[in-house]
Amino acid sequence: SLIGQASFAKSIIKDNILTQYSIYNSKLLDKINEERYIEQHMNTALENNEFFVMYQPKIELLTDKIVGAEALVRWKNPKLGFLTPDKFIPLFERNGFIKKLDYYVYEQVFIFLQKRIDNDLPVIPISINMSRNHSKPDKFLRDFMQIFNKYTIPPHLIEIEIIERSVMDNNTLREITELLHKEGFSVAMDDFGSGESSLNMLTKIPVDVLKFDRTFLQSSLDENGNMDKESADFIETLVDLSKHLKKQTVFEGVETKEQRDFLKSIECDQVQGYFYSKPLSEPDFVAFMSSRDIFVK
Ligand code: C2E
Ligand code: CA
Ligand code: CA
Repeated sequence: SLIGQASFAKSIIKDNILTQYSIYNSKLLDKINEERYIEQHMNTALENNEFFVMYQPKIELLTDKIVGAEALVRWKNPKLGFLTPDKFIPLFERNGFIKKLDYYVYEQVFIFLQKRIDNDLPVIPISINMSRNHSKPDKFLRDFMQIFNKYTIPPHLIEIEIIERSVMDNNTLREITELLHKEGFSVAMDDFGSGESSLNMLTKIPVDVLKFDRTFLQSSLDENGNMDKESADFIETLVDLSKHLKKQTVFEGVETKEQRDFLKSIECDQVQGYFYSKPLSEPDFVAFMSSRDIFVK
């Protein structure tokens, strides 16, 4: 058993020429075993509909109405239980499975919207996430349209959230954005302002919406729960900048009334966050929509 643990410890620093020793850590082994289990089961999980979509409402601050929602994937596995994306998406990005999962999520969203359209129920735009693994714009769009064309959903009801990967990739993202625009979809830059995105992209990628990363708000409150002055000034400048560039502004991670009131006072367009609602299961989201005013475009 000790020899097994020692060779496991050694295997962890296999490709790292700068580290000369390694200490066995049982937590790491649990993690590796869990990842192995996930990789062995991800395909059947997809076939068995273990993945499902939750919807987090987006609220327009001017009217306090629901103007959209973001589709967020979850996994319910018989052995691992209920999993949020941080438990499996990083692995799926490494092994490429995320592309398959993305298309599955898109189709679930299309099915949901189509059901509402067919029953003459009100519909609102749904945002879907595009993983950074889709690196070929033509191929992505072809596969996307193949699924989308099975339905009769007006394209303005779909918004695609893209994330910046590295400065070198701006051309790919621009191409994807332009192709999606041609088909009538809207495009949002997700996690804007987080570590990986640069101000430079603002002029290079013609997105319609800037979705500010939730880290802006995480550190924005002082000990009394009020917005601290520096964060407030900074956020206001960013919102002004986006408006100047004619982008819609959306803030994520709005958790308190102070944050909401502040964002409203600086005329940020929309917010998403626990203050209004956590991500909801489809039936809960439908109930949420009927309990509040929705803004049908
Ligand atoms: P994201 O796209 O930035 O999604 C927003 C995340 O913020 C969600 O986490 C949401 O539950 C969380 N959130 C919303 N409001 C609040 C709040 O007020 N406070 C805090 N602390 N958190 C809030 P979630 O659902 O765990 O998703 C995490 C990430 O996983 C997403 O970040 C997205 O990058 C990725 N993801 C989720 N679903 C999909 C998918 O279908 N495809 C792809 N490619 N990525 C996905
Ligand atoms: Ca997103
Ligand atoms: Ca985000």
